Amino acid sequence: MKVLFYGVRPVEVAYFNQINEKFGYDMVLEEAFLNEGNADLAKGCEAVVLRANCLADKKYIDTIKEFGVKYLFTRTVAFNHIDVEYAKEQGLKVARVPSYSPNAIGELAVSLALQLSRTAPVIANTVNKNFLVSGEYFAKEIRNSVVGVVGTGKIGLTAAKLFKGLGAKVIGYDIFQSDEAKEVLEFVSLEELQAQSDIISLHVPYFPGSNDEMVNAEFLSGMKDGSILVNTSRGEIQNHGDILNALKAGKLRGYGTDVFSKEATIFFQDFKDKEIPDPVVEELVHLYPRVLITPHIGSFTDEALMNMIETSLENIQSHETNGSSPNDL
Ligand code: NAD
Repeated sequence: MKVLFYGVRPVEVAYFNQINEKFGYDMVLEEAFLNEGNADLAKGCEAVVLRANCLADKKYIDTIKEFGVKYLFTRTVAFNHIDVEYAKEQGLKVARVPSYSPNAIGELAVSLALQLSRTAPVIANTVNKNFLVSGEYFAKEIRNSVVGVVGTGKIGLTAAKLFKGLGAKVIGYDIFQSDEAKEVLEFVSLEELQAQSDIISLHVPYFPGSNDEMVNAEFLSGMKDGSILVNTSRGEIQNHGDILNALKAGKLRGYGTDVFSKEATIFFQDFKDKEIPDPVVEELVHLYPRVLITPHIGSFTDEALMNMIETSLENIQSHETNGSSPNDL
């Protein structure tokens, strides 16, 4: 069977080939994300596997249906880039990868928090050959800090364990308080978490119409003065303008993010010597080293990639043998 994967970076190819040895599919590994120019690659394929920011709208679904594609899968947890209902109406099977290494994203959250609290301003100066020690380098150790984790599911709990391993007092807020999380952190109300935390790490999914821009001016005003905010979940849960204002006012000392709303218009492109199409993001970039931005690379690790490839190929195999997979949408 011929399987098309979109958005396969060159560094990932060897992993695809190695894992496919036990499946034996004929894989087409397209480096570009799905775009208007590469829909035709699906001709002759039975399965198409997307990644985040590959928009499978009605037009694309009609196109691949005409080509005879049977499976429209994604190698991501989130599937908001696929018109799932329409795809299913057209008779396509749709499946996802429900989880992959939570450490990939948890480690990025910890890394952003540590850099913001400890190294980012130092490095920003030393790359300019300035080795003077400035007062802004003075740091609070993580073991003397309170870390607030919002959303204590797979990734949030992993981040909580990592922060706890560094000695932090970890508190959490979640609408569902799991016993597993209770062993690692103390659950508090969201207001208490905002007021007590030196670092807040966001790990809640985005539910359109429910938690849009939950991190807004009101949320930020409830945070500790001079605290750090890290978002490795979804851009839609934050108001970028309000975060920018909180940084300018000194309310936030640092902000690290792996995500923006409408990030597809910004990420995975090079804007060197050009304006970023979102003026708020443009201003945020200029607040480096108080602002650290990573282009949605939370899951860009060896373990997460292997999980994604293996589960995607298992989803196809399961459909071939049983007519369905446990990860169908
Ligand atoms: P999960 O389902 O295991 O955990 C989510 C937790 O959030 C659950 O415990 C749930 O009860 C809680 N929650 C839901 N709504 C809430 C609310 N309004 N307030 C407080 N808690 C709430 O999910 P996960 O696998 O831990 O993923 C968390 C987030 O990370 C998702 O948004 C996901 O899209 C994002 N993510 C980002 C990357 C990346 O590359 N940056 C990669 C994978 C996942």
